[in-house]
Amino acid sequence: MRDRPSVTKINQLDPNVRRILERAELEGVELIRFLYADHGGVIRGKAASRSRLAERLGTGIGHTVAMMAMNMLDQLQDVEHLGPVGEVRIVPDPATYVPLPYAPGAAAMLSDLRQQDGAPWGACPRTFLKDAIDELAGEGYALVAAFEPEFTLGRRLPDPAGGPDRLVPIDDSLCYAATGFDTAHDYTIKLVRALETQGLRVEHYHPELGPGQQELSVRHAPALRAADNHVIYRETVRGVALRMQMWASLAPKPLADQAGNGAHLHLSLWRDQHNVFADDGAARAGFIGGLIAHLPALTALTCGSVNSFRRLAPRTWASAYAVYGPDNREAAIRLCSPLGESGEPNLELKPSDSSANPYLSLGAVIHAGLDGIRRGLDPGEPVDVDPDTRPGRYPRLPASLDEALDALEADEVLMEALGPLRRTAYLAVKRSEAAAFAANDVSFELFHHLRVF
Ligand code: GLU
Ligand code: MG
Repeated sequence: MRDRPSVTKINQLDPNVRRILERAELEGVELIRFLYADHGGVIRGKAASRSRLAERLGTGIGHTVAMMAMNMLDQLQDVEHLGPVGEVRIVPDPATYVPLPYAPGAAAMLSDLRQQDGAPWGACPRTFLKDAIDELAGEGYALVAAFEPEFTLGRRLPDPAGGPDRLVPIDDSLCYAATGFDTAHDYTIKLVRALETQGLRVEHYHPELGPGQQELSVRHAPALRAADNHVIYRETVRGVALRMQMWASLAPKPLADQAGNGAHLHLSLWRDQHNVFADDGAARAGFIGGLIAHLPALTALTCGSVNSFRRLAPRTWASAYAVYGPDNREAAIRLCSPLGESGEPNLELKPSDSSANPYLSLGAVIHAGLDGIRRGLDPGEPVDVDPDTRPGRYPRLPASLDEALDALEADEVLMEALGPLRRTAYLAVKRSEAAAFAANDVSFELFHHLRVF
């Protein structure tokens, strides 16, 4: 399909543009993937060839509006304004250009979806996060964040019984066990190098609970960069595995009877170079109060898939209760004690996984926390026991995607923040996924999640 000529030259004046063009030539990059995350949490995109890059950096690449009505099974939903008629542009952010170490000859850029005249589009997830960051800045705050992902490393093999493909884990090493370092070594070293060369700073790595489970954390960053980093991370985990004839899945529960894969969200809130979680009691209380108050609705965005709710079970350290507590690994919000004297306190939101769209997830977290600060919401008492040992005392998180979506629909603050087009599309896409998986068995659910995430 030929792109329509456009008068938009969105990136033309950006100083990074010349640098990108020079680098692409020097590094032998032929295709530049313009990536975005959709309402199903899937990372999608189109690639520009190097010879057309100068122009495409300005105009973006044309794209159908309908893709934001597509669910994670590639079933298109009926959403007004997201039908067969209409077009947006996938417009890359010049600050995000990065050659892909696991795909020689290719580079990626994280992108916004914009209207044809370059104006923001009401269904663009990255714009949603940028707007949330601006709103937070309007109150004098900035959010620093890091996703802390877990994933399962193995091979994707056909089911001998003829069912959908399965993920067969690489090993059966124990939690934090030294044997696990060796069984996954060749892969993890390649992964660390690939992340570092893309500008992500690797913090820690360990083999975790359950067959093939790995956890590798990266350094925190300002909120937009943290979400971009998580897209790069997801792509790299999968891409490095594929090059080694392996399969890595960040699905929340790729193996029904094994430990789930979280992507706990670490957060700290800053004002005038000060971490308010360290010294501003009122803002800290309000932010936590906001998260607690909006948690049921928030999980519809931070735990974005049907498979997410298989993970949120008590006694799995994934969190199942809407409570907070210091170093409490069964609470939805863990107050993390700082590492060493120079360490900074931060919050860890545990109901968060890699099937979420990281832009929607982080944007919604900002709106929830900000609402708590503005209204001075009281988070209640911290909880210092496993909440599951006190039956009936603490509120449970939603038990299914449908339940979480009900909470989201009833949450005026988040619905308002999402805006009409985005909330209509998100709810339609997610409701359709809930219905599709309810009509099928567990192996169907596991396959489709480990295939995509
Ligand atoms: N795997 C757990 C989860 O699903 C987290 C375990 C931990 O690292 O605390 O969230
Ligand atoms: Mg872990």
